[in-house]
This record gives sequence, structure tokens and C-alpha cells, in this order.
Amino acid sequence: MSVTAEDISNAIRDVPDFPKPGILFKDISPVLADPALLAGCIDLLAEGFKPGDIDQVVGIDARGFIFATGVALKLNAGFVPVRKKGKLPFKTYEESYDLEYGTNTVAVHVDAVKPGDRVLLIDDLLATGGTAVAAAKLLQKIDADIREIRFLIELSFLKGSDRLSGFPVKSILSY
Ligand code: AMP
Repeated sequence: MSVTAEDISNAIRDVPDFPKPGILFKDISPVLADPALLAGCIDLLAEGFKPGDIDQVVGIDARGFIFATGVALKLNAGFVPVRKKGKLPFKTYEESYDLEYGTNTVAVHVDAVKPGDRVLLIDDLLATGGTAVAAAKLLQKIDADIREIRFLIELSFLKGSDRLSGFPVKSILSY
């Protein structure tokens, strides 16, 4: 029996007031620790694409890496990390953004994709959309063809998808 979005939702742990008061943190650790649920996340995030449709799956530091790598393997695509500033060793482009809690800067290697590469961008969770918008801007700087942006979880009340309105966006779970 295949894993449903509801099965995944039931395993997500809500942690109130982490990392600061007023934030309800969606802890996916119990999902990742269950092999069937982990595989289910990968299947749902890759759904609709087949090997050959996507050149590079881009994951956002750090939980996005987990899903993007699995999806890349399933689609016979490469994996590209968008990392927090200061972590990538080669020449990078950078973008700064406001996070739901604090600010951050993300970076990508200038040669991470070939111009025109078909890219699927993945992160674990869409909150305000700041992170994903910054990642998308980085990918545009390196001439990636962003085919879709996908999230396991979307906090729809924060309206992050409005900020990504120029791209096809899909979330497996919406709260
Ligand atoms: P944002 O830029 O506001 O869309 O924030 C998205 C990023 O912050 C994602 O990489 C998430 O991992 C993390 N994040 C933001 N809010 C939460 C939350 N309530 N629970 C878990 N992770 C979150």
C-alpha cells in the first residue's frame, strides 16, 4: 500500500515555540526515521516527472538536501545544493532574505548548472517564501530553467506561494 500525504502528516511533530516563542516548528524527524514514509516523501515530490524531464534537482540547505537527493536519484538527474553563505568552496552568487525567524544569505556555485538546464527546486517547508525566492533568484542568475518549485509542507497562512507566483509551485501538505 502506498504512502499518502495524510500518513506523512500524521507523523510530523509540531513543536511549539521553537526556535523562538510564537513559532510552531514542523519537525519532520519522525518522517525521515520511517523508511516507508521517507520513500513516500520522495515519491510524492517526484510525482509527474520521469527520468529525462529534469537535469538538476536543487535542494535548499539543509532539510531540502534530503528530499532533493532522493528525487534526483529517482529522476536520474543531478543534485545541486543551495547553501548557507560561507559553506561553498568555489566562486558563488549570493542572495539575502528575511526568514520567518531572523535573516539569512544563501549561495550557489556560479557553475552549478549549465545555462538552460531544466531544474526542479525543492525544500522541506514553505513559510514566508523568502528562502525559496532567494534560491530561485540564484538559479535565474545562473540561467537555470526552473520547471517547478516543490515543498513537502506549506504554511499557507503565511502566503509564501504568492511570492513565488511566477513559478509553478506544488506542496504535498498544506496547513
Ligand atoms: P521561509 O523563508 O519563511 O519560507 O522559511 C522557510 C525555511 O525555514 C525552510 O527552509 C524551513 O526549513 C524553515 N522553516 C520556517 N518556518 C518553519 C517552521 N514553522 N517549521 C519548520 N521549519 C521552518
